[in-house]
Amino acid sequence: MKSITKILLLGPPACGKGTQARRLSELLNLPVLGTGNLLRQAVADQSELGKKAEGFISQGLYVPDSLIESLVLEWASAQKNGWIFDGFPRTQAQAQFMLTNDSIGKPDLVIGLRVGKEELEKRVNSRRQCTQCDIVTSTFVHPEENCPDVKCKGYLYARNDDALESFKVRHTQYLEHTEPLFDYFDNQGILAEIYGEGPPEKVWKKVEKLVD
Ligand code: AMP
Repeated sequence: MKSITKILLLGPPACGKGTQARRLSELLNLPVLGTGNLLRQAVADQSELGKKAEGFISQGLYVPDSLIESLVLEWASAQKNGWIFDGFPRTQAQAQFMLTNDSIGKPDLVIGLRVGKEELEKRVNSRRQCTQCDIVTSTFVHPEENCPDVKCKGYLYARNDDALESFKVRHTQYLEHTEPLFDYFDNQGILAEIYGEGPPEKVWKKVEKLVD
């Protein structure tokens, strides 16, 4: 059987894609591209990309396909053993770009996480991310300001675009542009859908089974 070396995580904002991607990365020893994290870093650095992306991100809007596609192509071309995508593709055009570029290629597995809007709203309210290592946690699990990883010197912050108004825009963008990709990848026979509510540990058990 062909081993799984290209995995894509699909799902609404705050569904746990980043957390599951991190665990998959440790299990399979594959690098993760979190496009949101990369863009936030570009904004913090005020690079050319960051300046172009900033306004879209702060409003909760998707950045233009052309901005994200060149970035993904450059990153994926450098990965020789496979990859995990967290947050790409998010539009039909991005999905086609991925499939028609041999340097990126077709994923072996698309993990589609389903989480209801009510649960997502609860999560963004308490969600915190590390300034250094991008680990995501919640104030319920880790109320302190320091990163939960003792080896990391970062501290936790609430993302601007997790404010309820931005979240609502992001969720609408998701429903309009990204949710149709569930059918798109299902038609290609590579989608595995997972119910993503409940604790991350419980979701992980299901994700782990898929790649076992
Ligand atoms: P995330 O951290 O995945 O929630 O992404 C944060 C923000 O980055 C999104 O709300 C978008 O503004 C932008 N972004 C990340 N990935 C993409 C993508 N593939 N296409 C367009 N915008 C993206």
